[in-house]
Amino acid sequence: MRPYIREKKDFSFSEVPENTSFEAGYLTTVNSGWRSIRPVIKEKCVGCEQCYLYCPDGVISVKDGKAAIDYDFCKGCGICAKICKIGAIEMEAERK
Ligand code: SF4
Ligand code: SF4
Repeated sequence: MRPYIREKKDFSFSEVPENTSFEAGYLTTVNSGWRSIRPVIKEKCVGCEQCYLYCPDGVISVKDGKAAIDYDFCKGCGICAKICKIGAIEMEAERK
């Protein structure tokens, strides 16, 4: 049996949609209720879109050169904070 090889497609960064999964219609149930920490975007964000590409829930968008998080659907996993090379995302306690 031959392995399935996905067709190779070249695309530029400008072709990647910048909206969230909710805006695209893929998320319908708010799931933020069990989050204990939340990512907070700091002023030094340069809009590089790495966090957008790595967020497993697709809840980050990049608007006006800055990342923005849809807190209705963010589960607080912290992957975005780990992937941001300049430390522009800090995880903060949900309740203080
Ligand atoms: S990875 Fe960091 S610098 Fe890049 S868009 Fe996300 S928060 Fe901003
Ligand atoms: S904490 Fe997790 S779910 Fe929330 S924005 Fe970051 S990567 Fe996405």
